[in-house]
Amino acid sequence: MNVLVINCGSSSLKYQLINADTEEVLAKGLCERIGIDGGMHTYQKKDSDKVKTQVDMPSHTKAVSLVLEALTDPANGVIKSLSEIDAVGHRIVHGGEKFAKSVIIDDEVLAAIKECNDLAPLHNPANLIGVDSCRELMPNVPMVAVFDTAFHQTMPPKAYLYGIPYEYYRKYKVRRYGFHGTSHDYVAHRTAEFLGKDIKDMKIIVCHLGNGASVSAVNGGKCVDTSMGLTPLEGLIMGTRSGDLDPAILEFISGKENLSIGEMLTILNKKSGVLGLSDGVSSDFRDLGEAADSGNEQAKAALETYAYRVAKYIGAYVAAMNGVDAITFTAGVGENNISARAQISSYLTYLGTELDEKKNAVRGEELIISKDGSRIPILVIPTDEEMSIARQTVELVSKR
Ligand code: ADP
Repeated sequence: MNVLVINCGSSSLKYQLINADTEEVLAKGLCERIGIDGGMHTYQKKDSDKVKTQVDMPSHTKAVSLVLEALTDPANGVIKSLSEIDAVGHRIVHGGEKFAKSVIIDDEVLAAIKECNDLAPLHNPANLIGVDSCRELMPNVPMVAVFDTAFHQTMPPKAYLYGIPYEYYRKYKVRRYGFHGTSHDYVAHRTAEFLGKDIKDMKIIVCHLGNGASVSAVNGGKCVDTSMGLTPLEGLIMGTRSGDLDPAILEFISGKENLSIGEMLTILNKKSGVLGLSDGVSSDFRDLGEAADSGNEQAKAALETYAYRVAKYIGAYVAAMNGVDAITFTAGVGENNISARAQISSYLTYLGTELDEKKNAVRGEELIISKDGSRIPILVIPTDEEMSIARQTVELVSKR
């Protein structure tokens, strides 16, 4: 069964065509600057080089039709006709409290997703445009919605409620939702599989450290807490997002600098995190590492502050679960950044675990990076959100 996985943003669309039987990625690509001049389609067939084509994409439907043309192109495509796409899996950012699992998309589901738009005004409407465009061009192909928030719906109220008047939860569903759920779910399950244990018997802390970053506490296979909140702004210090801060800072800075709430939120989402902390060096951990190595104190301080925050969350989640059996790093920084992993792990020796420098020198592979004999293993498990979306899509579509 071939599954087309779609991750549609407001001006971009990422996709992968996956043969779900062999788990091979047949082709993948990215459409950028949809609805803006200077559109670009990057397409890559398995085992081939990337092909970049400059092409204006006035609408998402145009972008999807270009994707379908590329996939079926006689010279460089990977399938003969659209009939070889058996299902489409869509990444949807916010499923609110309505969706604790992936679902087959129908009109009722679409209406329910629309009701969550308020909670993710930048993401959900864009995700839905992707669904509409695919339905227009492939009306008979079953489609599945896979939510970033769904895995976290098992959190108990004590983890998801904020210390604010309850009426805001009652009236507007203001609560912690958490994101990166597909990744936390996949990585927690792979951690248990890799260790040869039953996830039901395990307490796992997953650190998804990418541009966006979040930690989750997974007890018995169920998420019991996570660091992102109503929006992805809460929790860890990220590439450009601030993570946790005293909410009164908003009023303080906005008063001093004469900024609106909207402008303040742009600063907290786009100009903060390690980018802001490093005084503008970079949001990219490779650049920051290089700058720190060549003596840039601000970059060094940004990386230290980042690692300290991750370590504090790990400590909090050990307490939340009253123990931990494995700690796993994933995503761009978690999979590849040797020094970030070392810095974070230096705070964890109280758990009876120590990093093995040699093992930690590896990038992007599934492995245990703590020393043999450590009480708690520390692991690297590369995440694969697209594969997880494809698997969930197949599971639902084959049950129909
Ligand atoms: P996104 O949230 O955009 O999906 P990623 O998971 O791709 O982000 O993570 C991007 C981050 O991973 C960047 O800060 C990048 O510097 C870091 N990263 C990727 N590869 C490496 C590497 N080899 N060494 C250090 N950091 C890396």
